[in-house]
Amino acid sequence: MDKNMQYGDDYKSIPATSVGSGVGVELLPDIYCYTNQIVNLCLVGNPQSGDFVLVDTGMPNSANEIITEVEERFGEGSQPKAIVLTHGHFDHVGSIIELIDRWNIPVYAHELEIPFLTGKQKYPEPDGSVEGGMVAKMSPLFPNEPINLGNHIEALPSDGKIPHLPEFKWIHTPGHSPGHVSLFRESDRTLITGDAFVTVRQEYLYKVMTQEKEISGPPRYLTTDWKAAKESVIKLKELNPSVAVTGHGVPMTGDELTTNLEKLVNEFDQIAVPDYGKYVDDENLH
Ligand SMILES: [Zn+2]
Ligand SMILES: [Zn+2]
Repeated sequence: MDKNMQYGDDYKSIPATSVGSGVGVELLPDIYCYTNQIVNLCLVGNPQSGDFVLVDTGMPNSANEIITEVEERFGEGSQPKAIVLTHGHFDHVGSIIELIDRWNIPVYAHELEIPFLTGKQKYPEPDGSVEGGMVAKMSPLFPNEPINLGNHIEALPSDGKIPHLPEFKWIHTPGHSPGHVSLFRESDRTLITGDAFVTVRQEYLYKVMTQEKEISGPPRYLTTDWKAAKESVIKLKELNPSVAVTGHGVPMTGDELTTNLEKLVNEFDQIAVPDYGKYVDDENLH
């Protein structure tokens, strides 16, 4: 392993899983969404061309599973041109060091997320007291110490372009984390949301396990700026996406997506914002 890279001190496997774990769905010929335990990662690129990018890197200790999935779709020995991170939370960078070691490819994230990916800054403690179910309560177990990707991580270009994904642009969608980004393709209005909004109530273990589909704001226990989170959801709704691949939960498309996104924007304070929790500031919100 490259000694310049290391996971945070509190890095560990998390036992939570879901019925979707290990399942991959081809949403579009070049958009493949794979569920690793309780989080999604996305392979963007056409298997015929062999050019593709990996968006997010799953849970801890899942590198072999991800490599197998990649090779099943793109062929033995294939590897992405780059990794793009929606943000740096443990469930999106869980297996990234082994993947970089194997593939030796660049990783891109928003510049405001870089301190959390170079060992400089740790994320706030997950809020186990936030309104929500079992996953929220167990969230203090989740790693929040920063990983260090050394010189393997680069800031996304400031003009919105994404290296190796010319049809997509990144959109800054902070709130859940400072440098959170979503990826959008104008031509068919495909949106990869990360955790800006998700389609499962991620705080509730039962709903996570069954992947019961329900529009939801960002996972509560790690979201620290609800005002920014709301503005980010409004920004994404205004793009009028036709397909949304979310960081958690099953993808949503068409009218169902339009209706639910409208509902999330109109009722954000009720649906998304917890009634109580340490990152809820009443004055800012109501
Ligand atoms: Zn997250
Ligand atoms: Zn997440």
